[in-house]
Amino acid sequence: MVTDCPFCRIVAGDISADVLHSTEDVLAFRDLHPAAPTHVLIIPKVHLESIEQLTQHEAPLLSHLFNAANHVANAEGLRKGWRLVANVGPAGGQTVFHLHLHLLGGRQMTWPPG
Ligand code: 5GP
Ligand code: ZN
Repeated sequence: MVTDCPFCRIVAGDISADVLHSTEDVLAFRDLHPAAPTHVLIIPKVHLESIEQLTQHEAPLLSHLFNAANHVANAEGLRKGWRLVANVGPAGGQTVFHLHLHLLGGRQMTWPPG
């Protein structure tokens, strides 16, 4: 756990969050500032800064993150479709440096994203 990381603090229960799904190594909770009717963050419970830190070692974790995304999308009833976003680094729009996927849905998504 990284004590000044907000997502590690959510995993530890130090900061409250609207948790939708929790497994041994993955947590899904609603974004504090939703950008769509459904906006859920899916994170590994272990601290990894971003996708850039991933190695072959995290292959099982990656599949668990995507499984959690499917689980949440089904539970939220996003039958028409949804979007997964991973911002990487400052120029990618990343503001919290604990790897996370944004699951967005409940409205028509546009392309390209901002
Ligand atoms: P990023 O910009 O790093 O891709 O996404 C970080 C996201 O985390 C933002 O959408 C922001 O609203 C959300 N966020 C930041 N702090 C908290 C928090 O303490 N709780 C929750 N639920 N979401 C947070
Ligand atoms: Zn962290």
